[in-house]
Amino acid sequence: MAQPVLAHDPPEWSEPAKPFHIASNVYYVGTQGLAAYLIKSDEGAILLDATLAENASQIERNIESLGVPLREVKLLLSDHTHADHVGAMAQLKRDTGARFLASEGDRWALENGRNEGDNNYGVMPFDPIPVDEVISDGQQVRLGDVVLTAHLTPGHTRGCTSWSMTVDDRGTPRQVLFLCSITVAGNTLVGNQAYPGIADDYRATFAKLAAMRADIVLTSHPEMADVLERAARRDAGDPDAFVEPGLLSTLVKDFKAAFEDALKEQEAGKRP
Ligand code: ZN
Repeated sequence: MAQPVLAHDPPEWSEPAKPFHIASNVYYVGTQGLAAYLIKSDEGAILLDATLAENASQIERNIESLGVPLREVKLLLSDHTHADHVGAMAQLKRDTGARFLASEGDRWALENGRNEGDNNYGVMPFDPIPVDEVISDGQQVRLGDVVLTAHLTPGHTRGCTSWSMTVDDRGTPRQVLFLCSITVAGNTLVGNQAYPGIADDYRATFAKLAAMRADIVLTSHPEMADVLERAARRDAGDPDAFVEPGLLSTLVKDFKAAFEDALKEQEAGKRP
């Protein structure tokens, strides 16, 4: 049985959402509160994130409803190893037979079925997922005519990975960024025994992301980039609802400020 990740998982994390098209070959197959993205290629599909364990069948039905049989999902990726994003991955791997690629930083946690690093919410167990191949920073992952580039953006987890790809959006090439979480979200920033370099990693990640460009930003917690609201706006007649080149820098600025506040607070709390 799937265990809740938090004492009370927000209900929207498992509330069904109708799958929808985002741009080019990119589709949303997640729930109301947790994203999963399907990228179609001419040699099968890629699934990025799987959401909570209890949602596995729902995600599978969403994929099939887009005309993709589960066995045509050839690659599985995640943005980071927390149970609300990879809880269902073990079942998705069994049912699709796809290869799972992940960063070295997240591998231990993925293969041991628990998050790593000190925090204020404890251990979030999930079914372990064997990693078939370790990906490194800047590595390109190809499936048919799709090329995704891995960007290691650690902090939220040790191996947090953002993914980018260029799509042909109605004749215009656009850069899509699947942004790994950059929230502090209960992580211990001062004196983290299991992840001593966490604060430095966050800072390096903010600097790295600030130098990147993205026309369309997609997040694993969809509300962070208003993913469902954008779909509604697009359906209401705004064809460019997903396109916002300034969004990445706004997110980086806001979450960097929140990180610095949390760091100050934790430093003050540790002082005698
Ligand atoms: Zn997380």
